[in-house]
Amino acid sequence: MSENIFATGRCLCGQVEYTCSAKPLRMIQCHCNDCRKTSGTGHVSFAFFKENEVKITGETSNYESM
Ligand SMILES: [Zn+2]
Repeated sequence: MSENIFATGRCLCGQVEYTCSAKPLRMIQCHCNDCRKTSGTGHVSFAFFKENEVKITGETSNYESM
């Protein structure tokens, strides 16, 4: 039987990948000052999933951009 896949993606360098097996519980767009400054846009979009419905693989590390 094949696994349900709602979304997949990876980080900019490709070291970390994720797979979501269900639709998000909630999706929001935040317009606060922190999100606007961090993204350099008018808002940031977030999606929230149940922990057991998201699989993350790869070694994470820090990334800073100024
Ligand atoms: Zn925010």
